[in-house]
Amino acid sequence: MTCLKPESAQPSDRRPDGGDFNPFAAMEPRVPEATPAPARNGARVKANGVAPQGVYLPNDNILTPQMRSPEYVQLSTAAAMTLGLMPGRMHRCACTRCLNLLLTYPEGCRANCAYCGLARHREAERDYADRNFIRVDWPAVPMEQVVDIVARDGEATPFHRMCISMITHPRTDRDTVAVLKAWTARIPPERVAISILSNPTTMSRDDVKELHGLGVDIFTVALDAATPELFDRTRGKGVQSPHTWAKYWEILDDARDIFGPKKFGAHIIVGMGETEHQALTLVQRLVDLGGHSHMFCFFPEKGSLMDHLPATPRDQWRRVQLARYLIDYCGVRVTQMGFDENGRVTDFGLPAGEVDAVIDSGIAFRTSGCPGKFADDISACDRPYGDSPPSNIASYPFQPNKTDLRKIRRQLRRPKPAKIAAPAP
Ligand code: SF4
Repeated sequence: MTCLKPESAQPSDRRPDGGDFNPFAAMEPRVPEATPAPARNGARVKANGVAPQGVYLPNDNILTPQMRSPEYVQLSTAAAMTLGLMPGRMHRCACTRCLNLLLTYPEGCRANCAYCGLARHREAERDYADRNFIRVDWPAVPMEQVVDIVARDGEATPFHRMCISMITHPRTDRDTVAVLKAWTARIPPERVAISILSNPTTMSRDDVKELHGLGVDIFTVALDAATPELFDRTRGKGVQSPHTWAKYWEILDDARDIFGPKKFGAHIIVGMGETEHQALTLVQRLVDLGGHSHMFCFFPEKGSLMDHLPATPRDQWRRVQLARYLIDYCGVRVTQMGFDENGRVTDFGLPAGEVDAVIDSGIAFRTSGCPGKFADDISACDRPYGDSPPSNIASYPFQPNKTDLRKIRRQLRRPKPAKIAAPAP
């Protein structure tokens, strides 16, 4: 039985030098190795020609079947458990509220992002459908079966949102539309809101318009890297990957025009070498455009080009989580905040009592993403343990309790203020 539970041998979230942030100079990805011709473009899977039979659970010991979107999609382990397609339970979570779908092809994603388990440079080592992504396996399931289960559950569905992750492949634009139509034919968008995690590299403004017209609620762009230099190093020329900062911003600007305020956003991974000031300046830019930021704590994904690097120290992550929440939801501007010579947050721009109240509410430390049905600032996309092991949670996929908040305060180095005794009558 699968159980997403505390693990013992996980990379530390402390830097080897004891530092409390990941500096640019220390976060260099490995150079991707050339893939031998017989392993390129899913050649092994295509040569074996194994026909899929229902649900495929990633398994390195058997031949991977040939599965393609739009007939097949991959699901996060959490979504597969919630749908009842995989046995198991999740540490402190009953279910996930977001059904994350990933388009799938034997050729896999054609990009080579340094932090990603799905990247192209893994072709020789592992077939696409068997690769880990944000720390978990992604079972492949016939799309019809996914729709059948969610449609059957009707209003009782646990899902508040469905999100299609497009990956980078020549077919993803048209296949995203096909998957979307298969979904909306049986599940009204009013019941389960729809998000798109886009692939700007192959998209045009007309593609963005088409998705909006088909009932998509929120459009997101995975910028992931917070600066142009970091973007180039981790997902552009630096790793023989096709993405450019300019194209990502072109599609983000299109999404702002077409989807409108609060209906577009960008993913940012914290701790890949940007300063806290750079990450939060980007958060402010998105808010000023009318959008939101969805944050991930860098974790050295096994098999990725950054798997030798340290996870983001919790101190850095908590500072950025808290500051991002204040900018996104409390009207604080990055210019009101204080930063030291290394770009670390030293002042959150609000009186201490107000900052303490936000910390105590705990929401700032939950997983961020597109909202569900609970509240605007509570993400449906809870991604249980996608950016940390359960033993040292980065993004809480549930409401942190008092014990969690004590730990968070220690990580922030901000002890709870002592209660002031009431004056004697
Ligand atoms: S485009 Fe997305 S799925 Fe493909 S390698 Fe980059 S981050 Fe991974």
